[in-house]
Amino acid sequence: MNGPRKRVYVKSFGCQMNVYDARRMADTLAPEGYSETAAAEDADLVILNTCHIRDKAAEKVYSELGRVRRLKEAAAADGRRVVVAVAGCVAQAEGEEIIRRQSAVDVVVGPQSYHRLPDLLRRAARNEKAVDTEFPVDDKFAHLAAPSTAAIRARGASAFVTVQEGCDKFCTFCVVPYTRGAELSRPVRAIVAEAEHLAASGVREVSLIGQNVNAYHGEGPDGRPWSLARLLTRIAEIGGIERLRYTTSHPCDMSDDLIAAHRELTALMPQLHLPVQSGSDRILTAMNRRHSRADYLDLVRRLRQARPDLALTSDFIVGFPGETAADFNATLDLIEEVGFCGAFSFKYSPRPGTPGAEMDCQIDEDTKSQRLSRLQAAIERQQAAFNARCLHRSFDVLFERPGRHPGQIVGRSPYLQPVQVMAPASLIGEIATVNIVEIGSNSLFGVLASPAPARARESDRLAAGA
Ligand code: SF4
Repeated sequence: MNGPRKRVYVKSFGCQMNVYDARRMADTLAPEGYSETAAAEDADLVILNTCHIRDKAAEKVYSELGRVRRLKEAAAADGRRVVVAVAGCVAQAEGEEIIRRQSAVDVVVGPQSYHRLPDLLRRAARNEKAVDTEFPVDDKFAHLAAPSTAAIRARGASAFVTVQEGCDKFCTFCVVPYTRGAELSRPVRAIVAEAEHLAASGVREVSLIGQNVNAYHGEGPDGRPWSLARLLTRIAEIGGIERLRYTTSHPCDMSDDLIAAHRELTALMPQLHLPVQSGSDRILTAMNRRHSRADYLDLVRRLRQARPDLALTSDFIVGFPGETAADFNATLDLIEEVGFCGAFSFKYSPRPGTPGAEMDCQIDEDTKSQRLSRLQAAIERQQAAFNARCLHRSFDVLFERPGRHPGQIVGRSPYLQPVQVMAPASLIGEIATVNIVEIGSNSLFGVLASPAPARARESDRLAAGA
C-alpha cells in the first residue's frame, strides 16, 4: 500500500462476536492503508460497532453519534476530513434511518457486509452516503482479510474465531434472528486455516464463537456437515492450541457428541456458558425456548457426568411478560439446584419487532428490579463459594497482560477467573501452573508453582517419550 497511512478508531459495544468483528474490520482495512488508533480524536475513520441486545440500544447509538459529530466538526475546522461509519446490529436494524437522523454518518454497514467496507469507504470518499444492510449470498468470511502476525501478537494469546452466525431459534425476547439472519456455519477448512494461522502467531487459547454456536453444522473436508464436537476435536490437534472454549450455546443443541467432547478433549476447558433464562416451564414456553426445566437439569447432570469439574455460567431474564412470583421462585430454585459460578442477568425489556414486545402482562419496573437484585444476590453467593473452593488449589494459568502493580502479571484460570501473580513479564502468552493463595472479590491471587511454563514442561515430557 502506497500513500499516507490513515487511522481507524473502532468502538465496539456488546458481545464477543462484536469484538471479533471489530478486529476483522481492522484487518480488512489494513491493506487499504488504515492502522488502528485507540484515540478517536486522531482518527480519519470512526466506526461505531453497535449492539442491539441492551435496552434502548438505538437511542444510545444516536447519543454517541452526537459526540462523534462534534469530533468530526472539530477535525473539519482543522481542515481534516473524518469519515463516520455505523456497523453492527443497530446498523442492520435502523439502516438509512441512521443517516436521516444523524447527517454526520457517511457509512452504514450491517454485520453480513463487513467485507464490503473498502468499497463503501471509496463511495464515502466521493461524498456519497453508503448504506449496505443486505444479507449477501457471498461468504463474507472468505473476503475478510486475515490478521497479520503482528496484529495477532498485539491482541494476545487468547483469540476468538467466529464459526457460526445468526440464529433460527426465534426466542420471543431476542432480536438476533432479525439482525443477524438465519444460521450460517463457516466451512471446517476455513476455520482450521484461521486457527492454524493464530497458533503459528503465538495464540494458545481459541474460543469458537457464534450466536448459537452449538448449532454449528459447517461443511467438512469430506463434503458432509460436521458437528461442533468434531470441529473442536480437529482444532485440538493443531500444535500450539492448548485451550479451547465455545460460546454461546442453546440447551437444545447440546448433542451427545458435544457432551462426550467434554470428557474426551483435555484442551476443552471445564467451563461452559449455558443460558437457561428462566426456571419456570410456563415462562420457558412463552419465551419459545423449546426445552423444559427438567430438560435443562438433565442436561446439566449429563454434562457433569462427562466432566465432573465442569463449572457452569448462564443467562437469566427476570420479569418476562406474565412472570408471576411463583415463576420467579422456580428460577431461584433452579439456581440453587444447579449451582453456577457466575451469570449474566437482566431485567426483561421489550425489543421492537419481537413477539415479547407485543405480549400482555408486561411486568412493572419495581418488581423487575426487586427480582433482579434477589437473583443477583443468589448468583453472587454461588460465585463467592465457587471462588472460595479454589483456595489452595493449583491451576494452569494462561497469562495475558501486565497487572496493575509493578512485577505483577494477570492471566485466566481454566474457569476464566482472573489470576494475579508476581512473575516475570516474559510469561505473558504462556501457560504456567499457579498455586492459589488468596481469594479477592474479583480475582484470585497465586504464586508460581514452578518457574518453567507448562508448555515447556510438556515439550520436555514429550521429548523424554513419556
Ligand atoms: S437462541 Fe439465543 S440468539 Fe437465538 S433467538 Fe434465542 S436468545 Fe436469540
